[in-house]
Amino acid sequence: MEMEQMIEKYFRPGRLPHIWCPGCGNGIVTGAIVKAIDKLAFEKDDIAVVSGIGCSSRASGYLDFNTVHSAHGRALPVATGVKLAEPRLKVIVVTGDGDATAIGGNHFIHAARRNIDLTVVLYNNNIYGMTGGQYSPLTPTNSKATTAPYGTVDRAFDVTELAKGAGATFIARATTFHTQLLSDLIAQGIQHEGFSIIEAITACPISYGRQNKLGAAPAMMKWQKEHGVMLAAYEKLSDEQKEDKFPIGVLYKKNAPEYVAEYDKVIAKAQKGAK
Ligand code: SF4
Repeated sequence: MEMEQMIEKYFRPGRLPHIWCPGCGNGIVTGAIVKAIDKLAFEKDDIAVVSGIGCSSRASGYLDFNTVHSAHGRALPVATGVKLAEPRLKVIVVTGDGDATAIGGNHFIHAARRNIDLTVVLYNNNIYGMTGGQYSPLTPTNSKATTAPYGTVDRAFDVTELAKGAGATFIARATTFHTQLLSDLIAQGIQHEGFSIIEAITACPISYGRQNKLGAAPAMMKWQKEHGVMLAAYEKLSDEQKEDKFPIGVLYKKNAPEYVAEYDKVIAKAQKGAK
C-alpha cells in the first residue's frame, strides 16, 4: 500500500496536520508503526495505541485505532489495564525517553518484569522536546539542555539493557535512518507474546540538535547511519571501535510465561474455588 493510502486508512484526517517540527523524526517512527500493522494485516479494531505525554505521544491522537492519550509517564499502567480487560487487542505503547524512563521509569521496569504482552515503541530523541529541552535519562553525558546549559554531568543509561535486566523478552533497536528495519522490528515485537520494546533512535533537530550544534535533520540522520551497526557486525568490533557505535536489530529474545495468560490461570483456579 502506498503511503498516501496508508495515511487515508490509518490516520485521523481531522487531527492533521500534525504539530511536529520540520525535520522531526517522529513521523518516520509513526509511519514505521503503521507499516508494521499493515504488513501484519490486522483490522484497525484489533489494535490499541496508548501513549503518555510528549512530542512522540501525540501520535496516539493522529492514529485511527483504539487509542488512549494518557498522563505523563503513565502509558504503561493504562496499557496494562487495556490488555487485561481486552486481551484480544494488540496493544502498542508510544512513548518518549523522558516519558518512559524518568517519569514512567518505575512502570517501565514492572511492565517488563511481568512480561505482559505489550509492544513499547520508545521514540528516543535524547531530550524532553515538548516541555522545553530539558535533559532526560537518555541524554548523553556532556550534552547541553535547557536544564544543563554547560552540559549534563548525569550518566545516560542504555534502555535496552535496563529492559533486559527488568525481564523484557523481546528487545530491539533501530533508527529513523534504518526505516525498513525499524518497521520489521516493530512487526516482530507485535507478534512476540510477551513484553517487547523497540528503541527507535530519532532526531529532534529543534530541542536537542540545535542546543548541541548537531546540524539539521539530514546531518542527524547521517549520524544515525554512521553509528548504528547491525548486532552481528557490532559484536565483531573491538572495544575501542564500539565506543562511538551502537548495535541495531534484535538485541535479545526469549520465551517466558506471559502475564495475561498466567493471570487467566489464577482466575480459573479462583472460579473453581481451589487454592
Ligand atoms: Fe520533534 Fe523535537 Fe520538535 Fe518535538 S521538539 S516535535 S521531538 S523536533
